[in-house]
Amino acid sequence: MADKHREHRIELTMITREFRIFLVLFTSIIALSGCQNQWQIAVLTNGKGVNTLSKKDVSFYIEKSVEEIEVIPLGQMLFASGFTLVDEITLRCKDDEVRAFIWDEIAEQSTISKKGEVMINAESCYPTEMNISPSALAGEIEYSIMDISPTVADALDLPQLPDAIGKSLITDTYIWEHAVMILMDGVQYDQLSEMIDDERLTFLGSHGELTQGLTVYPPITTSSSASLLTGAPPIETGIFGHGYRSTALTILFDLAFENGKTVTAIEGTSLPFNLRNAETSLSGDQDGNGYSDDNVFLNSMDVILDQMPDLLYIHFHEIDDMGHSYGPESAEYASALIRVDGYLSQMFEALPDNTFIAIFSDHGMHTTTDGGNHGTLMANDLIIPILLLTK
Ligand SMILES: [Zn+2]
Ligand SMILES: [Zn+2]
Repeated sequence: MADKHREHRIELTMITREFRIFLVLFTSIIALSGCQNQWQIAVLTNGKGVNTLSKKDVSFYIEKSVEEIEVIPLGQMLFASGFTLVDEITLRCKDDEVRAFIWDEIAEQSTISKKGEVMINAESCYPTEMNISPSALAGEIEYSIMDISPTVADALDLPQLPDAIGKSLITDTYIWEHAVMILMDGVQYDQLSEMIDDERLTFLGSHGELTQGLTVYPPITTSSSASLLTGAPPIETGIFGHGYRSTALTILFDLAFENGKTVTAIEGTSLPFNLRNAETSLSGDQDGNGYSDDNVFLNSMDVILDQMPDLLYIHFHEIDDMGHSYGPESAEYASALIRVDGYLSQMFEALPDNTFIAIFSDHGMHTTTDGGNHGTLMANDLIIPILLLTK
């Protein structure tokens, strides 16, 4: 009996010892991988600390994405840290190697993962420090896409949008009978002002003062439209990227409708965003000539002449389409702008007196190897034209 007991005890001791060894190994593996998961990047500007990035910041955007993604653009984290236009970025990698880049040259090819790994042009770095030199232009540009709806609300004497951080750009208290918002999709500010200087845009070059504004990140139609119509940033609208088409926040059209105003929205071939509380008409390419802006224009003229609402929203798409296909410096892109400039001129003539007009773009466009694109944290994508006119 005694022997049996001892055997049993020895067995038990062995199990406990094995189990202890296992426990020690297991916890050290967990601890080690935990260490790898916990990382911090000090974000500095001109040598001064402004922010710290950690796994939870990157995970937030990866998990919010409607697409299955492993990494996010580094630009997303720069925008979240309060940067818009950036000149240079310097990374201090774990091995203490320091790498400096002109931001615009790497903006499209730089990503960050949940592990804190930054990939730039397929080269890996685990930064401990990221020093960012903002562009001087960022401080000079005063207007934002988020100011446009608060301005229009002000022009029509509507209450302010509840979630807006944008501000009305109107300084007087005059109340306009009608307001028109004209969205020219994908207009690059530099290209537009160059064409105005070359006297290729008769209307835009001779009416009012064209100003620069900043759109939000990502500079794509959906997130820009959400911030345009709410006056709120993407972190509030919940529209971080492709795929989302509606925001839960109050949009300008909700506000107009609640206050008894009529709203009409004229779109192209599809509805890129939920324009609720607006009488919406899709223009399409009704005449089958390959273009839809001419149909948007004709529909707009019908509405202006027959049933001008209190608030009219018009969206021209083709400049963006030509930009994607041929690039913002192409003749096709210039022609699309010239066509819209002509439509603007005729619409302006037809508009009733006592109308406030906001003409703007949702984002810009940059040149790529096979045409153009937008959606990147870079000047050409983020800077938009804003032109306020009255009649
Ligand atoms: Zn767009
Ligand atoms: Zn586009």
